[in-house]
Amino acid sequence: MSETKSSSNFIKHIVKNDLAEGTYDGVVTRFPPEPNGYLHIGHAKSIVLNFELADEFGGSTNLRFDDTNPLKEDQEYIDAIKEDIEWLGYEWENLCYASNYFDQMYEQAQKLIRSNEAYVDDSSQEEIRDMRGTLKEPGKESPHRNRSVEENLKLFEEMKDGKYKNGEKVLRAKIDMASPNINLRDPVLYRISHTPHHHTGDTWCIYPMYTYAHPMEDVIEGVTHSICTLEFQDQRPFYDWVVARADFDAHPKQIEFARLNLTNTVMSKRKLKELVDEAFVDGWDDPRMPTISGLRRRGFTAESVKQFCREIGVAKADNLVDVRMLEHFVREDLKMDAPRTMSVLKPLKVIITNYPEGEVEWLEADINPENPEMGTRMIPFSREIYIEQEDFMEDPPKKYFRLFPGNEVRIKHAYFIKCHDFVKDDEGNVVEVHCTYDPETKSGSGFEGRKVKGTLHFVEATKAVPAEFRLYDSLINDELSGDDFLDQVNPDSLEVTQGFVEENMNDLKPQDKFQFFRHGYFNVDPKDSTAEKPVFNRIVSLKSSFKL
Ligand code: ATP
Ligand code: MG
Repeated sequence: MSETKSSSNFIKHIVKNDLAEGTYDGVVTRFPPEPNGYLHIGHAKSIVLNFELADEFGGSTNLRFDDTNPLKEDQEYIDAIKEDIEWLGYEWENLCYASNYFDQMYEQAQKLIRSNEAYVDDSSQEEIRDMRGTLKEPGKESPHRNRSVEENLKLFEEMKDGKYKNGEKVLRAKIDMASPNINLRDPVLYRISHTPHHHTGDTWCIYPMYTYAHPMEDVIEGVTHSICTLEFQDQRPFYDWVVARADFDAHPKQIEFARLNLTNTVMSKRKLKELVDEAFVDGWDDPRMPTISGLRRRGFTAESVKQFCREIGVAKADNLVDVRMLEHFVREDLKMDAPRTMSVLKPLKVIITNYPEGEVEWLEADINPENPEMGTRMIPFSREIYIEQEDFMEDPPKKYFRLFPGNEVRIKHAYFIKCHDFVKDDEGNVVEVHCTYDPETKSGSGFEGRKVKGTLHFVEATKAVPAEFRLYDSLINDELSGDDFLDQVNPDSLEVTQGFVEENMNDLKPQDKFQFFRHGYFNVDPKDSTAEKPVFNRIVSLKSSFKL
């Protein structure tokens, strides 16, 4: 299933080679989110890559929370991340927390001090930045760089014991202030932060920097291939520096790939959090969000998300993927399984004046013509039905084949009807259309008489189930030009309408998915839908100009 024909994945070749040459005996990967927000579709790319790569070579994948910055992290995010990965259908080998390794990271730092490869620096953050130099100029050595091992050990312990305030001291690696790679100019290993941690409480007031913590986490877990995004490429020499000095047998290899970018989509957790905090959306799982929880609530299937991630491929070059490609995969996935049914999103009542009053007849219709095994359903028809407002025009332009005075159309699964009158309200809106039907033209009766050009869907009025529909447009406008991405938020990304669904749409469960004739695929909203008033989220419309 996970094998794809068209996509390429250069990392797979590296792994294959490593195994063939005996560099590694097996494959261990990890997915290492920082629990400072919900996962998004970019993370899904990394999840699919890590889990399926290990799986293909009989290896395993850890879920590891990279929780080294307690200021921004939260248990809510940990729970949401686990739920999302489980929903995608992956099983992690070990559930790990970087914070579980704080002791080992601390001991390793002491070891670096003893080998004169780390020192405590009293310089402030600004001073350190000023001394770092530029791409053209070498950095300057800190005046504290040549402290004795004993003094460094003592000061580092005092940092740990809470003797100093935030920012007063840091522990730095002693590498080379003249290195052409700025990341090797004595990078910071530890900082002081008097912040309780969601996992370790107030045991620690010093926390390892991500760039030091990450290779340590990988060696401790015996990771073989540490896959990350391109912005860490320049960090690789420091990653290897830490790995080479760590007291562990593992020698993980860092491999970078291009992160996923999608059209009309912001993907950084910081920006997504702003959208949530500033109430542009109704939470992290708002169906307009590119979060995994948002996609799920919108109605995307796990399979469609995974298939998308497989097909976009894994490369070194930055790329921008059309968001309609993701939509393509959910249509493909739902085509065979989603029941077809009719809904009217913006209702207009039609009275069939020659149809007997009080009578209801039942029509049989396929549940899914593409999958006949799904059987048939019964739909009512009577003197009063709803059609879409846009399916009637008092004064239509040419080539309008729907209902207008004097015109005849087919009503899906039912009869031909012909308009002879309509009623307007005080404001001039058409509120009722009057038609006659022709009993000879019943659908499926073998009627071969007149041809009509338009077919309209409908919902019978007396038994119709009132429903709410939520229709979405891009949350982010095309151009990300302004200074603040919030300027690009589309004010019309959500349209809510009140309409009707078929009488047989009872017993709906959250996340049930349907194809509404002409309108697209819809999902029963898991939060707001009730038995009395179902709420449907439009996943995608039926067609798109996008071609794979
Ligand atoms: P963000 O900028 O959205 O916060 P991040 O990289 O800081 O992303 P992490 O929680 O550190 O988020 O990411 C966990 C893993 O997911 C990392 O290995 C990271 O490289 C990967 N990842 C994050 N965003 C993307 C993306 N857009 N495409 C592919 N992989 C991604
Ligand atoms: Mg981050």
